[in-house]
Formats: sequence, structure tokens, C-alpha cells
Amino acid sequence: EPIEEKLYWNRYLVDAGRPHIRVRRHLSPSASLRALTKICPANCYSFDDAGQVKVVTDGCLECGTCRVLCEATGEIDWNYPRGGFGILFKFG
Ligand code: SF4
Repeated sequence: EPIEEKLYWNRYLVDAGRPHIRVRRHLSPSASLRALTKICPANCYSFDDAGQVKVVTDGCLECGTCRVLCEATGEIDWNYPRGGFGILFKFG
């Protein structure tokens, strides 16, 4: 079963106005931060008009890739969503 089909069965509850991941202000994004625009599995990262990296956490799978990649650079503030929000994994 392709991953896309599995992801389809998960549901996501948006905690409006309370994103659980923030990109800290940065002058120019590090290579790690830039890479997230390509490798985040939920396509949460993109460039804004000013060339900074922004995150929209809707659909985030909480895989932790961005947290790990940018741990050393300090560009990302990462927390789990509040209870009841975020990705709701279904098993079986
Ligand atoms: Fe993307 Fe994973 Fe980071 Fe969520 S935790 S924004 S899915 S890389």
C-alpha cells in the first residue's frame, strides 16, 4: 500500500492560531533550514517573498525531521501540539 494512501487515513486537527512549530527570525536560512522546503514529508516548509523560510504546520506528521535537522542551528522552535490536536494516527 503506497504511503499516500496510508496518510489519507490519518486525520489532522488544526489548533488554529497556535502553531506547534515556529521558525525563528533568521537573516539567511542555513542549508539545513533550506533543505526542509524539499524534504518535509508534509510540505510544511516554503520560502516567503523575502527569501526566508516559513512553516505552516497544518498536516505536520510530527516526524521530528525538522527538529533534528535544525537542532544545531537553533532556527526552529519545536513542540508537540497540545493534547487532542495535530495528527491523529489511526492504527488498523
Ligand atoms: Fe515536516 Fe516532520 Fe517537521 Fe512536521 S515534524 S514540519 S512533518 S519535517
